[in-house]
Amino acid sequence: MHNGFPILTWHSINVLENSYSGSDLIAFAEDLRLLDRSGWTILPLHKALDDLATGRLQPKTVVLTADDGSRMDFEAFDHPTCGPQKSMVELMREFRDQTASDRHRLHLSCFVIASPEARAELDRTDYMSLDVWPDHWWRPANESGLISIESHSWDHNHGSLSQTVQHDNRRGDFRWIETFEECRAEVDQASDYIEKTSGRRPRFFAYPYGQASDYIRNDYLPRHGPDIGLKAALGCDPEPVTTASDPWYLPRFVCGRDWKSPEELAGLLKSL
Ligand SMILES: [Zn+2]
Repeated sequence: MHNGFPILTWHSINVLENSYSGSDLIAFAEDLRLLDRSGWTILPLHKALDDLATGRLQPKTVVLTADDGSRMDFEAFDHPTCGPQKSMVELMREFRDQTASDRHRLHLSCFVIASPEARAELDRTDYMSLDVWPDHWWRPANESGLISIESHSWDHNHGSLSQTVQHDNRRGDFRWIETFEECRAEVDQASDYIEKTSGRRPRFFAYPYGQASDYIRNDYLPRHGPDIGLKAALGCDPEPVTTASDPWYLPRFVCGRDWKSPEELAGLLKSL
């Protein structure tokens, strides 16, 4: 497409079996090769947005993102039932080494959950205490040049947590983050922690569950986002980004929801 670009999303935590449909890591590796084979050019999110804004966007530009920030974004992991897993960054390096084309600026924006307490609790409640959510890899990931650590909020207002920053402790839906104080806690506090821990302040925010209240999307982020260092926020409506897109609710396609095989991804890309 000429007047826009798709943003694609994977979750490295989604590893249930060693197959495309059972592992976002296997899907990611295959999808990279499909994108290259079918003539798409991978750019960093900020570069694609700049090119779109300045009228320099090349046709068939695509952007890669990952949500939730498990360590499998950056580190090899010995999975209890699926065995050794290569990380997303390792899969990117393999792709780079095996691909003759030099047109890509290979890059992945990783949206991480900031709160160490929330990550520790989610690890216990949802991931059998496998220690999948540490943050020691954030800084080397930023320094790798292949990954940028971005914000996926303070605590995801996650349904598996006993307590979140939502003022009535209503959890499991990010649309319930709709006051100034809740936005301060979910957005500003997250950016502060991620900057302190990763060495770089996030430039992008991905709404947990792709959900945003009218207040955070239409008031809080347009008014305060730039002061916090944010350039845009991402939802999950399955459309390409165009000049008409709301910068505080950019659309994205999600692996497993919007495509379940390389053939489906090829069809999706062809339809744009
Ligand atoms: Zn998420």
